[in-house]
Amino acid sequence: MAELRRLRDRVVDADIVELRLDSVDDPDVGSALAGRRQPVIVTCRPTWEGGGFQGSEQARRRILEQALELGADYVDIEWRAGFADLIPKHPGRIIVSTHDFDGVPDDLADRAREMRASGAAVVKIAAKARRLSDCVTLLDLSRTFGEDERFVLIAMGEIGLPTRVLSQRFGSAWTYAGEVQDIGQVSARKLLDQFRFRSIGPATDVYGLVGSPIAHSLSPAMHNVAFTAAGIDAVYLPLPAADADDFVTFARAFGMKGASVTIPYKVDIFERVQETDALVRTIGALNTIKIDGDRWIGRNTDVAGFLQPLHDRGLPLSGRRASILGAGGSARAVAVALASEGARVTVHARDEKKAEAVAALVSGSVGRLPPPAGSWDLLVNCTPVGMHPRMDQSPVPSSALARGVVYDLIYNPAVTRMMRDAAMAGADTIGGLDMLVGQAQEQFAWWTGVRPPAGVMRAAAIRRLSEFNADENHLV
Ligand code: NAP
Repeated sequence: MAELRRLRDRVVDADIVELRLDSVDDPDVGSALAGRRQPVIVTCRPTWEGGGFQGSEQARRRILEQALELGADYVDIEWRAGFADLIPKHPGRIIVSTHDFDGVPDDLADRAREMRASGAAVVKIAAKARRLSDCVTLLDLSRTFGEDERFVLIAMGEIGLPTRVLSQRFGSAWTYAGEVQDIGQVSARKLLDQFRFRSIGPATDVYGLVGSPIAHSLSPAMHNVAFTAAGIDAVYLPLPAADADDFVTFARAFGMKGASVTIPYKVDIFERVQETDALVRTIGALNTIKIDGDRWIGRNTDVAGFLQPLHDRGLPLSGRRASILGAGGSARAVAVALASEGARVTVHARDEKKAEAVAALVSGSVGRLPPPAGSWDLLVNCTPVGMHPRMDQSPVPSSALARGVVYDLIYNPAVTRMMRDAAMAGADTIGGLDMLVGQAQEQFAWWTGVRPPAGVMRAAAIRRLSEFNADENHLV
């Protein structure tokens, strides 16, 4: 109880604090409520509803009744608990709740109808989301509630984040913040700082990153900070769609304005857009869409993002020998970018057929891996070799490095083994963070018509990277 009270009193970001009496060994309602500074919800969740309370139902009911007697602002009672007789005795103070940890139940609408009829002050429905479209199911459900009814709809799990951030859109009375990551909670600080929770309203434009996995992406941090800095009413969400159709359903239902697209959807979503430019068609993949009503337009900002640091440094490319390591998605964009500036492209990959396919895009050639020192003016790493956590690796031996420009697309770590070896060999080096920020700036400018204020995206990306690395998480 002492720990619960300490945590309760530490909360500064929330409007209301849920006291989970099922999380303590010695539940004591009087102690939980005494000296509180904010309104509270008292909850004592039984194990059969995903909570920690192992005592009898009688003992649990006694705790909840006591909380009501001692003036708790709200008491949460499970719909399945059979304590419905408490509801009419305490008008305006009971939350009736249901939690499904396996998925959205088939009887959701019927259940919601019964819960609404109970007369509870607030109906809370939480269900595990398996697809983004489960958020759409909850959005549809929200429309069945009347204006004077209070409810909270939550899709649990990482994929349910939109229901927490966009709770205004759902008409939810509040959202739940916290540190329980496996049910998809995010901290109140993150909701307020990164997702600007308090300023999200019906007019807020929704953008996001669609891909999988994307939990450690830097894009939400970069775009959200840029929206704030530019004074634009928009929010950017990580959207780990189950498949491309899942994303399309979500984007239509929420009226999304645009999205960044990453692995594995760069090709699938390309097939679903109505308009693209020549660059996207040459590369065969997009990384950005803009949605204008029913019109979906695709672009690939990796090309401009890749070139930006080279232009910033005034490095001439025309006629220069450019060697690309790897033949995946980024190698295609890099090859097209370099050829568009007149560079002579050679592709080096462990799979020769794949190297040939990339080289063919730009009438380039295929070379052996590693390319020998002196055979290139610009060497670009488009493989993941050297990425966190295997930071001691390099795609080429140090003996293959020489003077020239060495550009590593990897951005975690910011300085890779290959870049360190290259600097020792007298080369100028460029890291992947510049490209990452460059492509994000291009997206932002295309979507909003406004160039993001200088440096804010880069600073946000560096901050996020250091947070991840401090947590010893792995970037993907
Ligand atoms: P991808 O489509 O998976 O392609 C990876 C390429 O690297 C493939 O050709 C793969 O060969 C090759 N490869 C993988 N492991 C290798 C190894 N041990 N030795 C030799 N070759 C190897 O990935 P991608 O999207 O192009 O991304 C590649 C890297 O660029 C990643 O680290 C990514 O984070 C980074 N990136 C950065 C930015 C940025 O903005 N800075 C943008 C895009 C990508 P196989 O096909 O034979 O497996």
